[in-house]
Amino acid sequence: MDIKVGIPRALLYYEYYPLWISFFKELGAEVIVSQKTNKEILYNGIINTVDEACIPVKIFHGHVMDLKDRVDYLFIPRIKSVFMNEYICPKFSGLPEMIKYSIKNLPRVIDTEINFFESKEHLNDTIYRIGKYISNDYGFIMSAYDKAHLEYKLHRKNIEQEKAPFVNEIKILGKTKANIGRKRRIMVMGHSYNTYDSYLNINLLDKIKSNKAEILTPEMIEERYTIDYAKKFDGDIYWTFARKLIGTALYLIDTRSVDGIIYISTFGCGIDSVVGDLVEKLIRRNSSIPFSLITLDEHSGEAGINTRIEAFIDMIRWRDVLEDNISAHG
Ligand code: SF4
Repeated sequence: MDIKVGIPRALLYYEYYPLWISFFKELGAEVIVSQKTNKEILYNGIINTVDEACIPVKIFHGHVMDLKDRVDYLFIPRIKSVFMNEYICPKFSGLPEMIKYSIKNLPRVIDTEINFFESKEHLNDTIYRIGKYISNDYGFIMSAYDKAHLEYKLHRKNIEQEKAPFVNEIKILGKTKANIGRKRRIMVMGHSYNTYDSYLNINLLDKIKSNKAEILTPEMIEERYTIDYAKKFDGDIYWTFARKLIGTALYLIDTRSVDGIIYISTFGCGIDSVVGDLVEKLIRRNSSIPFSLITLDEHSGEAGINTRIEAFIDMIRWRDVLEDNISAHG
């Protein structure tokens, strides 16, 4: 019988799922991903986590509850750094312990440390330590990883190509009749587990689309651009999430390739309290792109979000039709 590996559909799942799923499948395991976030998952997350945790971490606990009785292993790596000289939020390195102390009767947890702060030289060692839970064959594990990595690269390319050729499009269109009639393009910024978890963000992406606007997310911008633009920032950036979002903001300011920016943040996120504020200041001081910050918590109401999205997109349309210089502050 196949070994069952459970992967919680939360946090960095949204960045790396093609890599992780394909790696364990190539090793011969059956991969079970938790259901999409729903009321029960959120509730289980809330009651099984300490109150001070941010909502995405609470939701992660709910996904573990959803999986724990149906798998042999749970994949919860201890992630410290995914890029050289950058760390990610400390919650990720404490996640395996947090889960083990909060939730009883867990299956075995694959909690291998992922830390590429100093170099990626030990990548093979990290891969081997994860793969060893399923197989002892070094060559087999490495070949499974190579195939999974190809799959991941293809997935990234597909996301980027979906929107890649948009640079300067709006700049060229300018204030013309064609511009007035066209679909508005909204960048939805934030951590991928906030932008892509439609239960957490109350279907925000669909709401924007149903208001006849199209969506961009930071993942749709080629990474080399966000990396290069982040280097223009006047200050040191130590967090991967911050680098990505600041790089995205500077890229948008320079290319003027969106009509508006919505930043999704979640209650209790220490990083967003700094980075969200920084991004907002960068956008408001250096561009006229309308900006809106939406902070979600477990009690966020749908009606309030609907009204804000409609008002934001209407404001962008009026702005183009009626005035040249309406303030980006709304
Ligand atoms: S970055 Fe913010 S939302 Fe994400 S895990 Fe850390 S505290 Fe939570």
